Amino acid sequence: MHSLKENYAQMIAAQKDPRRASWGSAPAVSGATLASDVLNAIFTEAIQSRASDIHLEPFQEWLRVRFRVDGLLYEVLRIPHIHNVTVIARIKISANMSTDAMSARKAMDGRFSMTIGKNEYDFRVATFPTLLGEKLAIRILNKDHGLVDLNKIGLGTTDLACLEKILQRKNGLLIVSGPTGSGKTTTLYAILNRIHTSQVNIVTLEDPVEYQIDGINQCDIDKKDDEAFASGLKAILRQDPNVILIGEIRDLETADIAIRAAITGHLVLTSLHANSAIGTVIRLVNMGLERYMVSYAVIGAVTQRLVPQLCNSCRIPYVLDESVLKVLCEQCGLDIQLFSSDKADHSGKGMQYLDESDQNKIKPIKVTFYKKAGCKNCNNTGYHGRVGIFEVVFFSEDLRDAIIRNASITELETIARQKGFRSIAMDAIEKAKQGLVTVEDIYPILLEKGS
Ligand SMILES: [Zn+2]
Repeated sequence: MHSLKENYAQMIAAQKDPRRASWGSAPAVSGATLASDVLNAIFTEAIQSRASDIHLEPFQEWLRVRFRVDGLLYEVLRIPHIHNVTVIARIKISANMSTDAMSARKAMDGRFSMTIGKNEYDFRVATFPTLLGEKLAIRILNKDHGLVDLNKIGLGTTDLACLEKILQRKNGLLIVSGPTGSGKTTTLYAILNRIHTSQVNIVTLEDPVEYQIDGINQCDIDKKDDEAFASGLKAILRQDPNVILIGEIRDLETADIAIRAAITGHLVLTSLHANSAIGTVIRLVNMGLERYMVSYAVIGAVTQRLVPQLCNSCRIPYVLDESVLKVLCEQCGLDIQLFSSDKADHSGKGMQYLDESDQNKIKPIKVTFYKKAGCKNCNNTGYHGRVGIFEVVFFSEDLRDAIIRNASITELETIARQKGFRSIAMDAIEKAKQGLVTVEDIYPILLEKGS
């Protein structure tokens, strides 16, 4: 990412270059022109480096510019303090935000669009007042990249087949869960894309609408306004929809309407903050919904995390020492056989638990994993893109019965496993064995599952 620094140096040089003023036709570059040139260079560079966010952070001497690429932040430029204010003001003007002195003391949101290369991008701007000035975080959305094919979001064969089975249902609730920034929206859009035909009426309620999809009725609503969200949802139900996407279930009222819609013949898609796919059900019950209503309405759940994907031009294979593997498994409460190559789960039958007699026959485990290096293809980061780690559960009859009789999560998972459910830990391990991710990067997922 040196080019941005070089471009910037040239722009500063042009501003100071006395020849530019004396040539007559080319006037000296004003502060505003410089700000606009610098920003164009930053935005273009951000797109070229596949950044998802741009951070502009004020310090005593300079404004630090960082890009988030594949989930990680990298410093790309330092702009001397004197240009701070013009650069920030320029962005705020583009995003239709107030630039008066008072506005610098409160957090604000705005957005603007820009065409870079052949694509149109949306930039969502959020300001935050700090002691040293305003900090800006800019989320980049590629309008043309909204629709991802369901086959391409990184689901394993078993998980994809399970999700497709769920999507054949005409009614019920399908929940996608995971922390912020785990790719839930991409998955929901990919699902919409899959079920979108001229025969179905799809209506969405989102905050905000991230990507516009032709032929789908999308409604942008402020989720901070709970009342507007719930009344928007009621209005949607009067629009004779087949499929309803509710951006996020955040409160009991929204959850209640979603469940009722799912029971009365609609396919309802939504997202929820929950750690595991089966955990989403418990979450809904804890929100105050009737257990039998939840078990009746929920047909499937997906949970996901996003992990940096190893650059396959420079990743380095290595064999993880079995003693290290043992410690890892103990820490995470995992069966070490999950890491064995012979026991790799390609069958779709899920994890096979071994009984005592099998344990004695176990051969030493030797698994090849990959670590990151760095090359020119990946800007020396060792990563290229991100990969989703998933778990998908189909709520079978047995599972629904177990939910009604208040079974524990462990019990629910055992029932699901008998039907072919693969946990997120298993998907993570599988993807590490395939060399898509490092063991270090999936460690938090393994640890979380084990706890
Ligand atoms: Zn590389």
